[in-house]
Amino acid sequence: MLQLDGVTVRFGPRTALDGVDLTVADQEIVCVLGPSGSGKSTLLRVVAGLQPADAGRVLLGGADQTGVPVHRRGVGLMFQDHQLFPQRDVAGNVAFGLRMHGVSRAERGARVAELLDLVGLPGADRRAVAALSGGEQQRVALARALAPRPRLLMLDEPLGQLDRGLRERLVTELRGLFGRLGTTVLAVTHDQGEAFALADRVVVMNEGRIAQAGTPLEVWQRPASEFVARFLGFDN
Ligand code: ATP
Ligand code: MG
Repeated sequence: MLQLDGVTVRFGPRTALDGVDLTVADQEIVCVLGPSGSGKSTLLRVVAGLQPADAGRVLLGGADQTGVPVHRRGVGLMFQDHQLFPQRDVAGNVAFGLRMHGVSRAERGARVAELLDLVGLPGADRRAVAALSGGEQQRVALARALAPRPRLLMLDEPLGQLDRGLRERLVTELRGLFGRLGTTVLAVTHDQGEAFALADRVVVMNEGRIAQAGTPLEVWQRPASEFVARFLGFDN
């Protein structure tokens, strides 16, 4: 589904991504962990087409994405700084873009209802987004990213503002939903518990490189380096 070959991104003297190789299989859920500044968001941005690579390439479904604009990549995005449309109500935000994708009015209504239930905002269709709390807005943004059923869904700290209980419930439900929809997911999170519960595979980043990639069990049982062990909190 997704392949990165030697992807490098530089900002002046700073190398945000340093020759990253990564493959994500169809319907796989991969969670990216790593310290602040290790390149997690840049990785998602380069796959989305929001950030050009200085070297290397990104392939989706086997096709080189160099020069392909964001809206042609078939990826869904939800970033840390999600921007909802304040002049539209909740349903208008979630359904945004579905008409363009050729989804019928009845189907749009059904998807909005289903997704609002999923994110714990049933019946919120007509509420003004400006009147929602930060966490509620985050849930609307998550529903919006899922609505077009993208082939690859990328989430950057999707549940960051939510309280622990809701996060744990959502992680379980999201795994089920992604499985039913057959969505491939690349998600960034600071929360190890969340990553280990959600992911088929975990990627640990450090200074623009992949320090380790493996199943949660592999990474947990056999950290590949002292950095990974320390990052996971093994203090020996
Ligand atoms: P966090 O966990 O804090 O969100 P991150 O792992 O997502 O961190 P990135 O945002 O990918 O980190 O940033 C990687 C590096 O690239 C950092 O050193 C950051 O300062 C730098 N960087 C990212 N975006 C830009 C930009 N637009 N201009 C200059 N430097 C940037
Ligand atoms: Mg980030």
